[in-house]
Amino acid sequence: MRTADEVLEALDPEQRQVATSMSGPVCVLAGAGTGKTRAITHRIAYAALSGVYNPTSVLAVTFTARAAAQMRGRLRDLGVSGVQARTFHAAALRQLQYFWPRVVGGSLPHLVDVKAPIVAQAASHMRLKVDRAAVRDLAAEVEWNKVSLLTPEGYPAAARRAGRGAPAGLAPETVARLLTTYEEVKTDRGAIDFEDVLLLMAGILSERPDVADAVRRQYRHFVVDEYQDVSRLQQKLLDLWLGGSDDVCVVGDASQTIYSFAGASPQYLLDFPKRYPNATVVKLVRDYRSTPQVVKLANALLDRAPSTATRARVELVAQRPAGPEPEITEYGDDLDEAVAVAARIRRLVDAGTPASEIAILYRTNAQSEPFEQALADAGVGYLLRGGERFFARKEVRDAIVLLRGAARSDDGTQLLGQTVRDVLASVGWSSQAPTATGAVRERWESLNALAGLADQVAANRPGARLPDFIAELDERAEAQHAPTVDGVTLASLHAAKGLEWDVVFLVGLSEGLMPISFAESVDEVEEERRLLYVGITRARERVLLSWTRARPGGRGGRRPSRFLAALGPGAARQPAGGAAAAGEGKRRKGAALPRRCRVCSAVLSSGAERKVGRCSSCPPAYDERLFEALREWRSRIAAEAKVPAYVVFTDATLVAVAESRPTDRAGLARIPGIGKTKLERYAEEVLQVLHSHAAQPGP
Ligand code: ATP
Ligand code: MG
Repeated sequence: MRTADEVLEALDPEQRQVATSMSGPVCVLAGAGTGKTRAITHRIAYAALSGVYNPTSVLAVTFTARAAAQMRGRLRDLGVSGVQARTFHAAALRQLQYFWPRVVGGSLPHLVDVKAPIVAQAASHMRLKVDRAAVRDLAAEVEWNKVSLLTPEGYPAAARRAGRGAPAGLAPETVARLLTTYEEVKTDRGAIDFEDVLLLMAGILSERPDVADAVRRQYRHFVVDEYQDVSRLQQKLLDLWLGGSDDVCVVGDASQTIYSFAGASPQYLLDFPKRYPNATVVKLVRDYRSTPQVVKLANALLDRAPSTATRARVELVAQRPAGPEPEITEYGDDLDEAVAVAARIRRLVDAGTPASEIAILYRTNAQSEPFEQALADAGVGYLLRGGERFFARKEVRDAIVLLRGAARSDDGTQLLGQTVRDVLASVGWSSQAPTATGAVRERWESLNALAGLADQVAANRPGARLPDFIAELDERAEAQHAPTVDGVTLASLHAAKGLEWDVVFLVGLSEGLMPISFAESVDEVEEERRLLYVGITRARERVLLSWTRARPGGRGGRRPSRFLAALGPGAARQPAGGAAAAGEGKRRKGAALPRRCRVCSAVLSSGAERKVGRCSSCPPAYDERLFEALREWRSRIAAEAKVPAYVVFTDATLVAVAESRPTDRAGLARIPGIGKTKLERYAEEVLQVLHSHAAQPGP
């Protein structure tokens, strides 16, 4: 528990000015890692601890659920509880769920989390031929139109003004008709979407003074983090919450605007001092987060921006001691990249970096799969989702019900950690992480986090028993304070906003992915640049960037991101080796031995060749029947475990097994793609398959 003065002591003079300006409008304009979020968190804590605010009357709006969870954690550490720290969406949803029965009656309609099926049905009603990319683009238009507070009729003119081109190749008038049909289909389904939550709550606040009064009595002090990415709809809701009050503190960085094509605008941040001429405006320039090397890379990226909007920023001044140089590495294909990144992470973890201090960030969520697989193979835990919904997860709820039951008969003869593990085992937890990825893995990670929390409680409170653990869980569930999952974070660049790790891998940085292929105009490309800037500035110590020449099994032809080419002399033209070379630590800033054909020793040039380890003109160096036998075995195992075959072993791994024909576990362990977990799980059976084919020599 800290005193109010101790809270202030942890801030620099400018941050302290933010913390002590507890009434009236406050605006903080500052770069990444300068302590904006720290300043507002301490501001809330200072006001609460000095008795100026009641913590329950504060609504702190953050950008992502993860950031909200982190802010609650930080406030808890500062000794303050009861503050609502939520995303705009979560805050609005909570209010809507509360007021809907009173205002409209009945329960809130079903909330759809993906628009694609509704968009596709609307397009089919209009007899439009649309593919997946078109549905994605049209869903983006639905969102843009709604967060910009436009009607479908207003869409064509506004879309032309905003230079939105022809989404899905359709004329703006056709898109406008689709927007109307989308709403009809959604209403027919009795559903509401993400934006409706904010629109409906804004509507209720505008039309029902009694509801507006109730909300304004509850929340008196507003704080908005990442304010550069606020949309017109979010701003409207904020204004309605404020109801004319000016007790609002906003912080942001225009260089980190990454949602302007989704309808957000940094203008609300930049114009705040005009809107509130009496505002306290504070600028922060010291970067406390990152080493000078990381800061230099981030500054260099923005220095090369053609657009003055991106360049209009305060240069960051690093405060931390020097660290390692950033690395840029080229890989053959996505699997090579994933295996090498996982191997590197394994080494970092073995050398003492906690897995929770490492992140792999990518442009689109679809890029996570090979990394999940490679991390599972390397025996490294990971997490895909943030902490926000931890206590809402089914496995967590089920486990808590069982733990409650067991608490009644806990006689204290066993250590708390063991008692909790025994109960968790009955809902499917085991001490070994599963080899499967996706939902199975996430379920295990949740349960494992509960086991870890039990150890933590036991360490803090010797003699603690199951009822004490349940009390801790209840308190955390109430505060939405999820236990830390000790795993590497896998996240999209968008979701990484505001967060930080010691080591950050920025992967898949090839043209088409970064900038993403649909970023065509200069402004769109600049938004991608800012997105990469957000990625780089997440790193405290070390940033590792990489790109791949081909998709798995595909032919080369990808080029490095244009942003990489600008980041260092020849940075993106480093020679590459295979994943195995990286795994052996031979890659230093991209330098590694070229991979050679197993049959003729020629240097391999394409990703596909490197994956199978031979040139396309050489015959396979393995017995095809053995390969088929391995595939059959894999299909059986995958069917039993109800997972896709590649989750057991990829084709590339099976080819390598068939080619090298290892005779023991050590031989198997040398094959890329076979990590500790897979070895334990499958070594016996794979060696058995190999053994039954031993009589038939390879070519
Ligand atoms: P972003 O723009 O990425 O959201 P930010 O400006 O919100 O960054 P914070 O996350 O608040 O930055 O701070 C970055 C890091 O620097 C955190 O680890 C924070 O604890 C640390 N930090 C900030 N201010 C100080 C300070 N005065 N003394 C020591 N550490 C600080
Ligand atoms: Mg921040």
